[in-house]
Formats: sequence, C-alpha cells, structure tokens
Amino acid sequence: MSDLPRTALVTGASRGIGKGIAEEMARQGCQVYLTYVSRPEEAEKVASGITASGGSARAFRLDVGDPASVTAFFQDEVRDKVDLAVLVNNAGVTRDGLMVRMKDEDWDAVLNVNLRGAFACTREAAKIMTRQRHGRIINITSISGQMGNAGQLNYSSAKAGMIGLTKSAAKELASRNITVNAVAPGFIQTDMTAALPEDVQKAYLGQIPLKRFGAVDDIAAAVAFLASDRAGYITGQVLAVNGGLYC
Ligand code: NAP
Repeated sequence: MSDLPRTALVTGASRGIGKGIAEEMARQGCQVYLTYVSRPEEAEKVASGITASGGSARAFRLDVGDPASVTAFFQDEVRDKVDLAVLVNNAGVTRDGLMVRMKDEDWDAVLNVNLRGAFACTREAAKIMTRQRHGRIINITSISGQMGNAGQLNYSSAKAGMIGLTKSAAKELASRNITVNAVAPGFIQTDMTAALPEDVQKAYLGQIPLKRFGAVDDIAAAVAFLASDRAGYITGQVLAVNGGLYC
C-alpha cells in the first residue's frame, strides 16, 4: 500500500452531479481533487465545504477539452504526489439543436469535452494507475447515449462513445487491477436540465416510471458503489440510474 493520500479526482465538480460525487467521495474517506473550467468561486466553495466537514479537498482549473493541459495537470499535480484511487470523468456540456441546423462547432465542442476529455483523462490516469496496480475509473455517460435523443445528436454520440471507451479501457486495464465502468444518469435536477423548457421537463416526468426526477445523490451513490471494494469484480459495465425511464 502507498503512503500517499488515497485520492478521488472528479472532473467538472464545481456544481451539479460532479459536486455531489466529490462530496460523497470525501464522505467515503478520499482526499478529493475537483476540477472546474469557468467558475473558480463555486469550485472553491465545494472544496472548502468538504474541508469544513472534516474532509480534504483541493480545486483546480482544468479544461478537459485541452489535451495538453490534461497531460500537464496529471504530470504536475497527480503523478507521484497522490495515490490516484478513483477517477470520475464527469465534466460535460450540451449544445442542443436539431441535426439539420446543427453547426460543426456545436458538434466539435460537445465531442471534445465529453468524449475526448474523458479519453485524455483516462489515458493519463491509466499510466499512473498501471504503476500503482490499482484504480477505479468511472465515466458519467447518459441515457441519451443509450437510447438516443432528438435534438442531442452531438451529445448522444459523445455519450455513446463514452460507453465504447469504458468497455475497451476495461479490457485493456483489467490485468492491472483497474476497473472501468460507466454510470448513465436519466433526468437529474441540475443546471444542465434546468435549462430545458418547462414543457420538455414535464414531458420527461410523465415518462419516468418512478415518477420523480433524479437527484444528484442518486448518481453519487452509484459512483460510490462502483468505487468501493464491494464492486471489485465489476468492470466494463454501464449502471443506468434513471428511474426506469430506459431499461
Ligand atoms: P452541469 O451542472 O452543467 O455542470 C457541468 C460541470 O462540468 C461544471 O462543473 C463545469 O465547470 C464542468 N465543465 C464544463 N466544461 C468543462 C470543461 N471543458 N472542462 C472541465 N470541466 C468542464 O452538469 P451536470 O448536469 O451536473 O452534468 C454532469 C455530467 O452528468 C455531465 O457529463 C452530463 O453530461 C452528465 N449527465 C447529466 C444529466 C442530467 O440530467 N443533469 C443526465 C445524464 C448525464 P464550470 O462550473 O467551471 O463551468
């Protein structure tokens, strides 16, 4: 076992699902490294909230869509400095619109952050976890990547790509005692979904068998399970947390 602090790195944890995951991983006893891209104050607030509750956390600016920054971050802040027990690829963006009107920039931006960002972080984490001979990687995909969604061609494609990434990385890394799984949230109440028109939100609610939107804690609990010792024989899987909306 390493003397370095057992650390969970959660990307995009200044708010929403990432914030909930960061707080839960701190409750599970991990030091938390959380990242943001545009809201330093919110990220610092999450880190200081964890510290105030007796945990340990640091916030870092990291644009996961910039592979050179990702490589530098892992090199400067992670490698040989912490025991990278868990990586959660949570950072994500949407640029919704119907396909015929979708601009190339909207396709590129969404693929770049959601899919290439997860690839870049997974690649760097894998190098470190391989040397450690242990690690858990958890990718936050989406129900949109499983069932498709009109108006989200870019996002659904990126999230479906994350499922392929999860399964392939699981096969490459299993011999090093590293598991790679995905969590696929349904409709979870965050800034991302608050931006949807009210009638769209109502229509979703009507289709959810459990008759409620998901909470950030529903996703954090699934991530904590996959990061725990109890999930040691689970790899390459997609855990859907969607109230039964797609099963
Ligand atoms: P959110 O509230 O919009 O928060 C997005 C987070 O990602 C923020 O912390 C943001 O940082 C960060 N981020 C954005 N671009 C980034 C970049 N280039 N590099 C690093 N971080 C970046 O989103 P959310 O609803 O919590 O969603 C979190 C994840 O769950 C996403 O991957 C999303 O696709 C997935 N998901 C969400 C739902 C849902 O219903 N909400 C459903 C399925 C899947 P700043 O605050 O600094 O901008």
